[in-house]
Amino acid sequence: MTFRPSINQDSRAQARRGCMVLAVILSVLAVAVIALLILGYFWWARRAQKPAPQPAPSGDELQVHVLDVGQGDSILIVAPGGKTVLVDAGTPGSGKVVVDAMKRYGLKQIDLMVATHAHADHIGGADEVIRATKVLSVLDSQVPNTTKNYEDFLKAIKESGAKYVGAAPGQKFDLGGGANLTVLAPIKPFFTKDQLRSGANEPNANSVVVRLDYGDFSMLLTGDAEAETEARLMSAGANVKAKVLKVGHHGSRYASSDEFLRAGGFEAALISDGEDNRYGHPSQDALDRFKALGIKIYRTDLQGEITITTRGQGYQIQTARAATGDLWTGRTAPKSNDADSDSTPTTRSRRAASGR
Ligand SMILES: [Zn+2]
Repeated sequence: MTFRPSINQDSRAQARRGCMVLAVILSVLAVAVIALLILGYFWWARRAQKPAPQPAPSGDELQVHVLDVGQGDSILIVAPGGKTVLVDAGTPGSGKVVVDAMKRYGLKQIDLMVATHAHADHIGGADEVIRATKVLSVLDSQVPNTTKNYEDFLKAIKESGAKYVGAAPGQKFDLGGGANLTVLAPIKPFFTKDQLRSGANEPNANSVVVRLDYGDFSMLLTGDAEAETEARLMSAGANVKAKVLKVGHHGSRYASSDEFLRAGGFEAALISDGEDNRYGHPSQDALDRFKALGIKIYRTDLQGEITITTRGQGYQIQTARAATGDLWTGRTAPKSNDADSDSTPTTRSRRAASGR
């Protein structure tokens, strides 16, 4: 006698098969969705890290002048369409150097002032510039600071009616003619003291870092950022590749790490520092790292003002004078000083008394 399944059993088996097929289809779909999500994430992450395409250069000249303000930073950028950017304003008393340079280059106003951080050798002359000329906007790191210099700076902004802008990575400033400035740092949350080497400080580590792009020319301006900041920029996938570097922290041994210089692929490096500075800037260690990678260096302490010009294809660098010493020889700090720690916020009077 042959076994004949009943109709009931037959349909149950069919239903079971149907369920299994459905489960298989659903599993395949789930795997496909997960795979798509993973692929999509990697595609998005790659896209996010890929530098945005640059607008075509107008062919007019872009100028970058690293002004000779002694032991400090002040860089004047004149965009092809005539817009101007001032990155830092040197020590107290340097406002005059900036205003004189503006006269030399026939500039009437500053469209954007970037205050990389609140130390006296960067914002010391900022209030003087804000009072002496028209400044439309000021970009600030927003790292809290209580020095007299910083108070004067904020007061001058308020009184002048300039627009105060807090720096944030990704901000882009269209300078006209195909040139633009992009903010890369500070990356929040701000560095805290315990995240830094001893002797380092938060204002330096949280410096505003910007990149300037025009055609195939590019430049990175890193304020007094040090190795920790460089590492954070690289791990965040920031576009640090550029033709020229305004060297971080005046050539301090704690900035310009080998990894960063390799990632940047820089051809030329500009160091803004003063003769007889008490910090030992630039340090021999940093200079040796530039030399090992074949990066050309320029120094305001030996060559005076440094000027870059470009029409969006290639670039030229000129200096105010021939070097008055060996570019590859670093400075040493006097024994009595704690080398390379211009971290103490200096007040206007103390800085003036010490003569930079
Ligand atoms: Zn500095």
